[in-house]
Amino acid sequence: MDAYIESVYNQVIEKDPHQKVFHQAVLEVLESLEPAIKKYPQYKEHSILERIVEPERIIQFRVPWKDKDGNVQVNRGLRVQFNSAIGPYKGGLRFHPTVTQGVLKFLGFEQVFKNSLTTLPMGGGKGGSDFDPKGKTDAEVENFCTSFMLELYRHIGQFIDVPAGDIGVGAREIGYLYGVFRKATGVHGTCVLTGKGPTYGGSLIRPEATGYGCVYFVEEMLKTKGESLKGKTAVVSGSGNVAQYATEKCIDLGAKVIALSDSSGWIHDPDGIDREKLAWVMELKNVRRGRIKEYAEKFNVDYSDKGSPWELKCDIGLPSATQNEVDAKEAKMLVDNGVIAIGEGANMPCVPEAIEIFQKAKVLYGPGKAANAGGVSVSGLEMAQNSQRFFWTREEVDRKLHGIMTAIHENAYKTSEKFGDKGNYVLGANIAGFLKVADAMINQGHYA
Ligand code: NAP
Repeated sequence: MDAYIESVYNQVIEKDPHQKVFHQAVLEVLESLEPAIKKYPQYKEHSILERIVEPERIIQFRVPWKDKDGNVQVNRGLRVQFNSAIGPYKGGLRFHPTVTQGVLKFLGFEQVFKNSLTTLPMGGGKGGSDFDPKGKTDAEVENFCTSFMLELYRHIGQFIDVPAGDIGVGAREIGYLYGVFRKATGVHGTCVLTGKGPTYGGSLIRPEATGYGCVYFVEEMLKTKGESLKGKTAVVSGSGNVAQYATEKCIDLGAKVIALSDSSGWIHDPDGIDREKLAWVMELKNVRRGRIKEYAEKFNVDYSDKGSPWELKCDIGLPSATQNEVDAKEAKMLVDNGVIAIGEGANMPCVPEAIEIFQKAKVLYGPGKAANAGGVSVSGLEMAQNSQRFFWTREEVDRKLHGIMTAIHENAYKTSEKFGDKGNYVLGANIAGFLKVADAMINQGHYA
């Protein structure tokens, strides 16, 4: 690694030695920026790397709430406002017991480059809490969301910071959070949250956007090899928002999805998950909030709580659950079983060694910050519709989403070619995302 880049990376580790996933995300970006830093000396002259790895602001707060037995529980709330050079901070809220400042810094950092790639004017941020919505009653979730927003509302706004959903934060939670924002401020805030319900300012296709967008991106990667999704077999991990709609779009485009998972285990349905079975999964996960194991009982297929769906033979892998869910051994199994494309629905689901294995084997590998940018893109479109006091049809939003995913693919592909490694989407996405933000920072002076 170039000595300057290495020194920036070492400072990141020294400052926060325990934030391992943040280090991982920073290292991946810094390594691929090397050719751009060599080619354009202004970024080093203006200390852009030193600035871009440091969040502009981190807000941490106490979230006390009452559980169903009347006891007061205390969780920690956080919002990492990472970079606002090209627009207001934008990024989801994650409610999951594994949430720490390091996890949110990794996600916020990724979001900066992802949002830059979308072509829309959005900076990067991420927030959430170590609260676990799993197994909680609706009333408990509402209590928690109320307390969380009673603090967060003073730090967000349409021109400041616009959160959305992520793991553990779906339509139900966004509804509660929005209701409290309105109560606390007395205004609608135009577009202070995205992923809102369609009756109060939400955009059509926002729930579908990340999963659909990921599959659109994979289809674009396949096109570069004269291939398409039609007739392919896909494995999808997770069974939440991203996984559900990635599955739906695979079905639309003629691929067969043979697996889904949750944090307890995974199912294998060799006949494929058709629309009817998918509707059942959506009801299971979004309404009854049950476990994927029930799918195996309902449709008489295999379920396992050992290993992972990555041991199955498939053409396409869509990891759509969480970070570091595909390790080197699983990547090797996928390659040995003939996988041709990986599209990351989740953020950083593949460990660095797994990425190396895919790239060495010439598997088309679409990194999350490009492949899963569809969600935040339609969030950007939700902001645009709210500002216009108007809404667009499903077809119109879907067409725009498709256009954005095609543009992201083209930008990442062409940038990889320009910097000497055609088809390396990690290199292409990181450099393309970086250049726009870095130039904006230089233009705005050294306080940016
Ligand atoms: P979600 O609806 O909460 O679903 C998450 C899914 O992943 C669930 O099936 C969950 O299983 C599983 N999961 C979570 N942690 C896990 C773990 N440690 N091991 C195994 N499975 C685990 O969340 P989502 O919105 O689909 O997000 C999934 C991924 O996509 C995340 O990486 C997120 O950052 C990324 N992403 C989401 C969006 C978006 O618009 N929602 C946009 C871009 C990227 P359990 O129910 O058992 O926990």
